Amino acid sequence: MKYKALIISLLALVILQACSKDETNEGPNSINKIVNKQPTGSSANDILSDNKFKSIVIELAYIEGYKPTANAIEYFQDFVNSTSYKPGGITIVENAIPSLGNSEYTIEEIADIEEANRTKYNIGDAITIWVFFVDGKSDKDTNESVVLGTAYRNTSFVIFEETVRSFSDGPFEPNRSLLEATVVNHEFGHLLGLVNFGSDMQMPHEDSEHNRHCDEESCLMYWEAVSTSGFNNIMNTNAPPQLDAQCLADLQANGGK
Ligand SMILES: [Zn+2]
Ligand SMILES: [Zn+2]
Repeated sequence: MKYKALIISLLALVILQACSKDETNEGPNSINKIVNKQPTGSSANDILSDNKFKSIVIELAYIEGYKPTANAIEYFQDFVNSTSYKPGGITIVENAIPSLGNSEYTIEEIADIEEANRTKYNIGDAITIWVFFVDGKSDKDTNESVVLGTAYRNTSFVIFEETVRSFSDGPFEPNRSLLEATVVNHEFGHLLGLVNFGSDMQMPHEDSEHNRHCDEESCLMYWEAVSTSGFNNIMNTNAPPQLDAQCLADLQANGGK
């Protein structure tokens, strides 16, 4: 048993590198990558409501051999459906990527992999999300804690799948699909603007010691999934943690369900 805190996520800001090939002006259906390279939380309303975007396309990218469980994908799809008004539906497109052989990644390296491999960008009334399951670990891991996922742009987040696997399905460890679903739903929650990160708080509930996270321990948006101080909500349940009433109120006030 490994005595390390499992930090669900860090938030990283990848500085927008605008370059001319990111922009094209060739009609309404041309690809404009810049709209998918904005700060985390800034597209919360676009993802939650059907004002501008009627459907959502999730590009589920993974390093070959690191695809998440079918159960986790199902939990995620259900979660998106429970938060966002998308009458045009939710589509998941898989993208298997060969390993680069790295054992550790900076968030800049993760963004470079996205740049080289992402195939879906907003088009028409479809908004697109890039979810990437990577081999190797975060360069932010320490002896005391490991990072399971990071939301780094308005429509992009990464899951450190190798780390998730090493802390699941063992004795005293959570079930793998539940841990995967917890991390995926949590990172998606940041894209939805939680907490105080694009969806305004209706009542104060931001954790003062862990910015952009909820202060309610049982909430999906709590900063820590599992720790030595207490295996919280995913050890003895068969579903990932839910959003608490405060987080739900924030989403509803920003156009969500
Ligand atoms: Zn987080
Ligand atoms: Zn909450």
